[in-house]
Amino acid sequence: MIAGHVPAPYRPGMSRNLDTLKTIDNDLVSRFAAIVGDAHALTIPDDQRPYLIEWRDRFVGKTPVVLRPGSVSEVCAIVRLAGETGTGLVPQGGNTGLVGGQIPFETGTDVVVSLTRLNAIRDVDTDGNTLVAEAGVTLQAVQDAAAARDRFYPLSLASEGSCQIGGTLATNAGGTGVLAYGSARDLCLGIEAVMPDGRVYDGLNRLRKDNTGYDLKDLLIGSEGTLGIITAAVLKLHPKPNAIETVFAGVETPDKALSLFNRLREATGPMLTAFEFIPRIGLDYVLRYAPGSRDPFNDRHPWYALIEVSSGVDHGLRERLETTLTEAFETGEISDAALAETESQRTDFWHLRTMLSEVQRYEGGSIKHDVSVPVSHVPAFIAEASEAVIEMVPGARPVPFGHLGDGNVHFNVSQPVGADRPAFLARWEEMNDLVHAIVLKHGGSISAEHGIGRMKRNELARVKSPVALDLMRAIKAAIDPKGIMNPGKLL
Ligand code: FAD
Repeated sequence: MIAGHVPAPYRPGMSRNLDTLKTIDNDLVSRFAAIVGDAHALTIPDDQRPYLIEWRDRFVGKTPVVLRPGSVSEVCAIVRLAGETGTGLVPQGGNTGLVGGQIPFETGTDVVVSLTRLNAIRDVDTDGNTLVAEAGVTLQAVQDAAAARDRFYPLSLASEGSCQIGGTLATNAGGTGVLAYGSARDLCLGIEAVMPDGRVYDGLNRLRKDNTGYDLKDLLIGSEGTLGIITAAVLKLHPKPNAIETVFAGVETPDKALSLFNRLREATGPMLTAFEFIPRIGLDYVLRYAPGSRDPFNDRHPWYALIEVSSGVDHGLRERLETTLTEAFETGEISDAALAETESQRTDFWHLRTMLSEVQRYEGGSIKHDVSVPVSHVPAFIAEASEAVIEMVPGARPVPFGHLGDGNVHFNVSQPVGADRPAFLARWEEMNDLVHAIVLKHGGSISAEHGIGRMKRNELARVKSPVALDLMRAIKAAIDPKGIMNPGKLL
């Protein structure tokens, strides 16, 4: 059943070009619905709600209809109709994106295309070490399918139970495994996508080497739904690590954490598969709000490192790690360390890290920065940015954490205790400007792994070089001349 739809008026302050807005009447909604069947064309507000609000409640969108295609040919038909009628399409995976790219604008003029029903694992090839998954398969399901065949898909995010392969590729997701295995881009061999003219680009390549011109897969990866709708991908599998050692260490300063990282890197080489850092305030939040969490130490430490070394074969990994940790104790790089003795202890250590994103919301407003700087600049960046935000908002509580080995800091700032949440959050852009200026001074990036979406679109235009922006706009215009793919996002 199609409910009546009245397009919302344009409201100022939204980054959507008025000239391109098209209203969608009930007849057009019915034509879209006919492609997927009424049961998969959601027009009732309660049914649409999970697709229109994002994880942090920062963006709430509006749409005439959420379409849930069940096949690649249905995606093609949707895109063709959108091209014919100039309708904007917003591809959506697990709706865990953190920059608003998957949420339609409040204008209510764009149609959401959820890939959730394209959820088959088409093939697992253990000789070739590849897995072909449709876009709507969750990251966790891919990890599980690989593990069931004694293989490993190393992409790992705290959102892995919900985020989908299409979404991880469209955002070039990072996470905790990048240090050793790279980001989603490095873990993908081929892509199948429905392009804006409605044709299927069949690039389901399983080749490790293929130098036949421009890499279209790499263009689609990280394009955030603005160049096409990814429908399937060939993913690279790795040998399952059989020897894994996990350490939770207390450290005094980010400088010492960096020295520890370099010491471990030298001692264990590519076997160093994770090096995450957590400030004490972050651990306090987790202990306060995450059920089942426990401080591994009796003493408090200003910073913590969660370290993992792993390998397909056990070449005395534990002994090597213990020797390196002993050296690090002697030099003062670590103040305390706990080596996981059991799988459940290892899970407990990781729980302290993975819950960190979620628990911050219980401490009131939190202004986020997903940034990267050269690895050697991380300590200086944290010190300068912390001082600057506290000067801007006295009492503000920086919670910088993340992937030290990638130079990726989630520089989040909690509101002062007892402050007014909306008043604090109203300073989001102002604080972003302040922190991003420090990032740029250090030669860093304003988006390390979450992308641009809607949140950082204006900022991208300010910080990216004119040449880079011209090239990106030329690519967008060539591939999507009608501008139907995720309009108003990224560029
Ligand atoms: P969505 O949120 O649905 O969409 C994200 C973007 O991709 C949108 O622009 C959308 O239009 C586009 N898109 C989605 N599917 C397709 C498709 N099939 N074809 C074309 N475009 C598509 N990210 C990291 O990189 N590292 C982290 O460590 C990390 N941790 C997180 C922890 C938590 C608790 C949460 C909530 C999020 C985290 N994220 C992290 C962000 C998020 O999970 C990733 O960006 C993820 O890749 C998004 O996948 P999704 O399926 O939810 O995509």
